[in-house]
Amino acid sequence: MPIKNRFADLHEEITGWRRHLHENPELLFDTPKTSAFITEKLKEFGCDEVVGGIGRTGVVAVIKGKTDTSGKVIGLRADFDALPILEATGLDYASKNEGVMHACGHDGHTAMLLGAAKYLAETRNFDGTAVMIFQPAEEGGGGGKEMVDDGMMERWNIQEVYGMHNWPQAEVGSFAIRPGPFFAATDQFEIAVEGKGGHGAMPHTVIDTTVVASHIVLALQTIVSRNVNPVENAVVSVTSFETESKAFNVIPQHVLLKGTVRTLTTENRDLAEERLKKLATATAEAYGATATVNYIRGYPAMVNSDVETTYAAEAAASVAGKCEDAPLVMGGEDFAYMLESRPGAYILVGNGDTAMVHHPEYNFNDEAIPAGCSWWAEVVESRMPAK
Ligand SMILES: [Zn+2]
Ligand SMILES: [Zn+2]
Repeated sequence: MPIKNRFADLHEEITGWRRHLHENPELLFDTPKTSAFITEKLKEFGCDEVVGGIGRTGVVAVIKGKTDTSGKVIGLRADFDALPILEATGLDYASKNEGVMHACGHDGHTAMLLGAAKYLAETRNFDGTAVMIFQPAEEGGGGGKEMVDDGMMERWNIQEVYGMHNWPQAEVGSFAIRPGPFFAATDQFEIAVEGKGGHGAMPHTVIDTTVVASHIVLALQTIVSRNVNPVENAVVSVTSFETESKAFNVIPQHVLLKGTVRTLTTENRDLAEERLKKLATATAEAYGATATVNYIRGYPAMVNSDVETTYAAEAAASVAGKCEDAPLVMGGEDFAYMLESRPGAYILVGNGDTAMVHHPEYNFNDEAIPAGCSWWAEVVESRMPAK
């Protein structure tokens, strides 16, 4: 079954919602307009239940099938927050909220899930219950975790969850997925190095923190090259090196290093954290300085469960003719928390030849809407076939 005809009819209307969301982007949990817009639409579609305030500003809607002999409940999740980026698309529906932009396509994800909700509420051609999950704060706020911690899975008895992200440079409306680890765990660290500052011409009287911190930066390169199994993937990046000295002749007392660690398994995550702490503190000590490490765990790795990945790929193939094997992504995705809580799968839908996500010239491709909506609907109809 290709694109569902109904979505060809609804394409223009859904595009209108997408552009409205694009014009009115909001950050993290501070999403009053977006949450209200989603709620209003879901009520208008005649969903059986629409509840806001889940995970602070998330919205959940329930759509019951014509029958419910299966007892199945499937959750479909879209994120709806934007990014603190100054938009440079020049579109006539560009952001009206200066410095805030839908640069990750969450406007498209939300519009597509709203489209699917409208269709599912109209047709109800399935045997079970579909739960629409609209999530805030994917971009660093952990909105997915907040919704899970709020008891969403138990409250609606959700048994499986599915998510989708657009993917620039992949053919528009094509699909790609992989089982197992898919997106990385995203941890951050700060290493405060303290030595003894002094005159740049008298190195024998100081403990030079810039030299010590440089050795730490180099030592951290051995975590991926010497500690992690070479057939596995990990990233350790030092992204900031700050001192309080602005002078050419002052050796600073302090250096603050910051960076990020990306891993795909718990073993490598634990290993990287342990090695990072040891390398930083022992290197500093060797030079007579001290290093204090603040290691902050962010989103866990996002892991697709095997069987549900197969279901998701089959639904994609029935819409697009095939489903590609997706590459591993070392970026993070807080749908990880929902996949820790329930089996499910996350899929990529091609966004065509556009700028990469998080770029000021990026825009969600409205041509992906019929395929994305059809996939959501197909997941529901194929997992809970009508009686
Ligand atoms: Zn993003
Ligand atoms: Zn995103």
